[in-house]
Amino acid sequence: MRINSKLSLSKGLKALTLALTLGVANNAVAGLNIFACEPEYAALAKELAPDAKIYSATTALQDPHQVQARPSLIAKMRQADLAICAGADLEVGWLPMLQMKSANAKVRSTDQGLFFAAEQIETLDQLDSVDRSMGDVHAKGNPHLHFDPKRMLDVAKALTAKMIQLDPEAKSDYDAALASFSLRWQAAIPKWQAKAKPLQGGKVIAYHSSFRYLFNWLGMEQVADLEPKPGIPPSSSHLASLLNRAKQGDVLAIIIASYQSERGADWLAERSELPVLVLPMSVGGNDQSVDLFSLYDSAIDLLLSAKQ
Ligand SMILES: [Zn+2]
Repeated sequence: MRINSKLSLSKGLKALTLALTLGVANNAVAGLNIFACEPEYAALAKELAPDAKIYSATTALQDPHQVQARPSLIAKMRQADLAICAGADLEVGWLPMLQMKSANAKVRSTDQGLFFAAEQIETLDQLDSVDRSMGDVHAKGNPHLHFDPKRMLDVAKALTAKMIQLDPEAKSDYDAALASFSLRWQAAIPKWQAKAKPLQGGKVIAYHSSFRYLFNWLGMEQVADLEPKPGIPPSSSHLASLLNRAKQGDVLAIIIASYQSERGADWLAERSELPVLVLPMSVGGNDQSVDLFSLYDSAIDLLLSAKQ
């Protein structure tokens, strides 16, 4: 397909995207049955295997650390050829139970149809030693890696290899889908970075280390955490110390994720006169975030709104 050079870059890319998507859809993609632990991995699977049957165990309005191993989840996992999860112990409280109760040998091991995104990349903030006094820490590093575009591209490549391993007959389709995704993703990264440039050096107070990779990528700094310890909700004494920190006057905003409680953030916002930004934790975390691309757009747009 020829792209009219008079079209804007974004329109041109959209047209190319459409053409590539249609190109992929025209081939018969053998359907894997995919169980994603979080919506970001359901969205990535949709990019890489558009015709697969994809189910997300959680939504962006749910805490992915705390999930009930409900019968409906067990039934979905029982049917899966491939389970895609963040890993690095994010799902340690519920995935092993699902695996046990679903008794599906296909998704028991990463040699087969179990895939952990965090195992494909280097996580941030790995800890050498952990004890209970530290709270619910992520010893294997921060698992919330889906806001790092370069790491996500590495995950996409590894996930494609896994899909080909499980469904070798459709190799050319998976290769084509990865090529399409890579092209669009790599075109989007510099645009996001250019748009987010005013955020560089920006300081925020945030809840948990949910957006650690986003801040790291955009050159922002989380100077304080609403959680006194990981997994522990904000206490009044902790909030008082955050108010002192906010009074230094260099903090841009208070950031919480779409599934987190606004209560502590609102208390702090009222007294510090800082805005509270609710960022989508994943695809579906707000109306704008319908896929990985619009998820990034929305998160960056919301952060930029604090600069105005
Ligand atoms: Zn976490």
